[in-house]
Amino acid sequence: MYKCNSRRLQESIEQFSQFGATPNGGVTRLSLSNEDLLVRDYFCKCCEELGMDIKVDDMANIYAILPGKKDVPPIVMGSHLDSVEKGGKFDGVLGVLTALEAIRTLKENEIELDIPLMIVNFTNEEGARFDPAMMSSGVIASKFEKDKMLQSVDKNGITFKEALQESGYEGEEDNRLTEALAYIELHIEQGPVLEAKQLEIGVVEGVLGMVCYEITITGESNHAGTTPMSMRKDPMIVASKMMMVLHEKLGEIDETLVYTFGRVNVSPNIHTVIPNQVMFTIDSRHQRPEVMQKVEEVLTGLPAEETGCRIQPVKLWGRDTVFFDAQICNEVEKSCQGFGYSAHRMFSGAGHDAQYIASIIPSAMIFVPSIQGKSHCEEEETPFEDCAKGADVLLETVLTLQTKFSMGETYTLN
Ligand SMILES: [Zn+2]
Repeated sequence: MYKCNSRRLQESIEQFSQFGATPNGGVTRLSLSNEDLLVRDYFCKCCEELGMDIKVDDMANIYAILPGKKDVPPIVMGSHLDSVEKGGKFDGVLGVLTALEAIRTLKENEIELDIPLMIVNFTNEEGARFDPAMMSSGVIASKFEKDKMLQSVDKNGITFKEALQESGYEGEEDNRLTEALAYIELHIEQGPVLEAKQLEIGVVEGVLGMVCYEITITGESNHAGTTPMSMRKDPMIVASKMMMVLHEKLGEIDETLVYTFGRVNVSPNIHTVIPNQVMFTIDSRHQRPEVMQKVEEVLTGLPAEETGCRIQPVKLWGRDTVFFDAQICNEVEKSCQGFGYSAHRMFSGAGHDAQYIASIIPSAMIFVPSIQGKSHCEEEETPFEDCAKGADVLLETVLTLQTKFSMGETYTLN
């Protein structure tokens, strides 16, 4: 078993965090911004120094390829180099840098593989500059239409199309990732579970299914001083009662179900006026379809009217649980055991490029712990030794897979 060089990995994490560094130790590297273009240039340079070939597709996704002895589809590693505004120096970039460290370790040990290896950097994963998130992995997996994505506009009125054309990273559609033997994305957990359980590696079995509903309650506005309580049609009172009822009912469905009342709009939102309308959203996530089914039954089973107010639930959107490749998950877990690292099987509550890529390539993810579960903020942190353990597991998994694939074994899509 080969171990990665933890100090070298730390140095590259620190090096890459200089691109778009914020005063408080975070990173602002919005997709296709100047900082993103500079980090891309630097990433390509690092890969070329290792003898890798660079290709870029029409969504500016970058592919660095280490040729193998056999001319077959590659094993792919990677994630994204863009960040949110004032994000951290681990989200996304760690998946790219652990892949880079894996290749450096192979080179250093003069190991030549039969199967080509590839590192991918997906464009605009965060969706922080151009909506939606996971835009470019979504386009190559046919989840989004490219023409629509090109029209996505940032807050300065620049379209994704314009940013793409000016970036120097607009490549050929023919270069898109369409065929590979496996895709493995290492990522920070972005949640508190691994740290709380004092575990080293998360073996990610999939991404949670979710639904988001918007519930609108319509009553009647009137004067806050002159209208007796018994004569009101107050949607705020109805909404707050309803949230508590939902909290109770959803809480009974399954102890691992999560749900969030994330947005509340009140109209007219004036302290002397009884509101005439309250709208709130509820986002709920779980891996089992039958649990999500029960959530929807609760939400659609709300009364149509209460205390003179009209209640209308509308489903904004939903996604089914994405299950990753069971065989790759097993190999990740075995790699952990080989190193004596504790592993924990889990689902991701957050979205990742791997959830779209899983529909075209057998995929899995590796999580490393997030201190206090923090991410998308400057305080985001993962101890460097934990990052290195992740890199070890990534490399070992790739080596095992390459031996299997080299002998003709293949994994099929779920
Ligand atoms: Zn990410």
